Amino acid sequence: MKEMYLDNAATTPVYPESVREMEKVMLKSYGNPSSIHNKGEEAFKLISDARKKIAGDINCKPEEIIFTSGATESNSLALSFKSKKKKIFVSSIEHPSVMENAFKLEVRGYEIIKIPVDNLGIIDFNFLEKMIDSNTFLVSVMHVNNIFGTIQDIGRIGKLCRKRGALFHTDAVQSFGKLKIDIQEMCVDMLSASAHKIGGPKGTGFLYMRTGITLEPIIVGSGQERGMRSGTENVPGIVGFAKALEMQKKVNGNKVEKLRNNLILGLEEIGGKINGDRKKRIWNNVHVSFSGRDNEGIVLALSLKGIYVSTGSACESKKTKEDYILKAIGLNKGEIDSGIRITLGKDTTEKDIKRLLKEIKNLLR
Ligand code: PMP
Repeated sequence: MKEMYLDNAATTPVYPESVREMEKVMLKSYGNPSSIHNKGEEAFKLISDARKKIAGDINCKPEEIIFTSGATESNSLALSFKSKKKKIFVSSIEHPSVMENAFKLEVRGYEIIKIPVDNLGIIDFNFLEKMIDSNTFLVSVMHVNNIFGTIQDIGRIGKLCRKRGALFHTDAVQSFGKLKIDIQEMCVDMLSASAHKIGGPKGTGFLYMRTGITLEPIIVGSGQERGMRSGTENVPGIVGFAKALEMQKKVNGNKVEKLRNNLILGLEEIGGKINGDRKKRIWNNVHVSFSGRDNEGIVLALSLKGIYVSTGSACESKKTKEDYILKAIGLNKGEIDSGIRITLGKDTTEKDIKRLLKEIKNLLR
């Protein structure tokens, strides 16, 4: 039975090129980047090169990249500060790693304002424009939603924030390496990304943090990463991340998008309702509901056939944790309980799409 992995928004298979680089680092360049001898220097140079490569991709300075253990940590760090300004805006479809940290800020006396989204998952820009004021410290809006793939116009949001004197953070986990990001053009002050969503290893990510911003480090100690994230750097992970980015940039998104569009048509033919925006949507994502059906049943039945899709997102407490995101775009209970996320990979073929459609059709029957 051929396995078909269609859950690339949850995580991705690691590029063999990335694995080979990491193996080399672990076996040969195992020095501590803080050591002053040659072995330390060698490791330091490896993370410096990776930092430059990643910074170049989003057009920031290398020293503005803080390596972390992944985007949950990056988002937590971005929302860890003390400020006199007390208003924080977050979109109502943020990942729990932003939402939960916003709730923590609320307990500490900040006012958290959720920006509503329309039925396609696009934020209400006018709401933000009207509400943002001189007491606003931060606006956090994700670039691409992890469940239904909607793409926000982060350049427009960034420019508004810049004009009104608020900082702008974006969770770019689902877009980094896949869509063009220029933090200068888009006026982004902080950006989170994660290696395992683009064919890199799990447990590595970064926060881009514009020079001049002051955050409260979550992990303190020997002062690595400009004091923002202490602890010996994950050298193999960081090197593997940069290599994965290089490989990811070669992926032909248009080709995957064509397959995805065929899949959408096929799903609609068998009674599926597509959730999220048709056009402003990351090229590998489909989110579909089959009202009256149980999504877990479908996902598990497909799994028995070696086809791996998702009931939504892949957070710890599987079922209800992220329902607020689907409720925010106006889905009813039947649509939420039957929602399936299919996220194509670089190697997905037309044959795979046909097989998936056939299997779903059989299950629905
Ligand atoms: N934000 C978004 C949009 C995500 O999709 C994820 C991963 N599900 C995260 C944050 C958390 O990333 P990590 O797994 O690297 O902690």
